Amino acid sequence: VSVGNELLFGETVDTNAAWLGRELTTLGISVVRGFTVGDVAEDIEWAVRKAAQASELVMVTGGLGPTPDDLTKATVAQMFSLPLTCDDQVLETLKVRYSAGGHDEVPVAARGQAEIPQGSTVLENPEGTAPGILLRTQDATVVLLPGVPGELRAIVRGALRPHLEAMRPPHAERVWHHVTHTTGIVESRLTEQVEASMAELPPDVRAPVGVAYLPDVYGVDLRFSAHGASREEALARIAPLLNAIDQVVAPYRFESTSGDLAEAVSTELRARGMQMATAESCTGGLIAKRITDRPGSSDIFAGGVVAYSNRVKVEQLGVHVDDIETFGAVSEVVAHQLAAGVAALLHADVGIGVTGVAGPGGGSEEKPVGTVWIGTCVRGEVETFLGRYSGDRQAIRARAGQAALAAVYRRVLNASKG
Ligand code: ATP
Ligand code: MG
Repeated sequence: VSVGNELLFGETVDTNAAWLGRELTTLGISVVRGFTVGDVAEDIEWAVRKAAQASELVMVTGGLGPTPDDLTKATVAQMFSLPLTCDDQVLETLKVRYSAGGHDEVPVAARGQAEIPQGSTVLENPEGTAPGILLRTQDATVVLLPGVPGELRAIVRGALRPHLEAMRPPHAERVWHHVTHTTGIVESRLTEQVEASMAELPPDVRAPVGVAYLPDVYGVDLRFSAHGASREEALARIAPLLNAIDQVVAPYRFESTSGDLAEAVSTELRARGMQMATAESCTGGLIAKRITDRPGSSDIFAGGVVAYSNRVKVEQLGVHVDDIETFGAVSEVVAHQLAAGVAALLHADVGIGVTGVAGPGGGSEEKPVGTVWIGTCVRGEVETFLGRYSGDRQAIRARAGQAALAAVYRRVLNASKG
């Protein structure tokens, strides 16, 4: 049960429910219902009652604090006829926290946080003042948690954890995930091909594994989920599916713990002792930023030129003026010369050249908004390709940068080590 007017009005997105859903599912506790209500006592009561009838465990987030709109604790205590009593230990913790904050004593308004429904268990909050509260009622175990996401997570992973472990059904196995990252293929095509290859598996192999397609502007992640007493057991269930789709995803897959293709590129460059340089026009340094966001990137990144004006393309990177005049700045030959030029200028093994129309203006019939030429130069050999990307200016730039990194990744994977 998520409590808060701001959730109903759309000012705050209910990330607590999403986080709790993942956390509980991972622990083998299945989540069957969710409610969102405002800061209204009778609505909180209604939702908690419904939830308690439908399940054995009710998690309530929000409205635990000291302000007058924080009604959760009083409402729930009243529902189950539990008087609120001051918990000395919680009061002591409040005193310590407030004095650390420079207060002589706990403000009267904040003292209410030490009041706990009789017979309930206090769940220590290492990140804030309002502790979590666990109470066992006839219908269900009810857990009250603060709305502040960091506090909620700290309590769930800390003081609440042993209670959750004890509650999960005796034979419940955890859910484990394996994620395959892809880029360069649209969700609909990937889904079609992946589903077709998995359809050939026997049902008793296919059925126990859940498959989710998680797209964003950079690509599509495939998330496989299976139950298992251990990670190995779950991965053994997932393995036949990975085998079945191997050929289909191989041209698009990349290996990265963070899910960021820049990590995958950095890893492969480092493994070969290679350095990269970038010449970016329409991406304006996005690729250089993504690479240098990662600590230790100086081994693998020489530098970059934001070659926005034609003058910089010509004077700094050796792009031929007459090629720009004949073919335009957004052209195959310019992408080629940018990639080769920046690799030579910065003495790098790998060069990237990107030139395109990010929009919203500047498009033409021949080169509409989203047209991007990309060049990659690996140990002196240049390859180019034409991308056509959709979306607004930001999305086009993000997609073009990703495509350039993907091209480098494939080429570097094939380059010999050393
Ligand atoms: P506090 O003790 O800090 O007052 P609280 O339990 O009273 O905590 P709220 O007042 O409901 O919690 O919310 C505190 C903050 O947490 C707000 O900034 C709110 O936007 C955020 N928050 C509340 N509920 C959620 C939620 N379900 N998901 C994400 N953020 C939330
Ligand atoms: Mg509050």
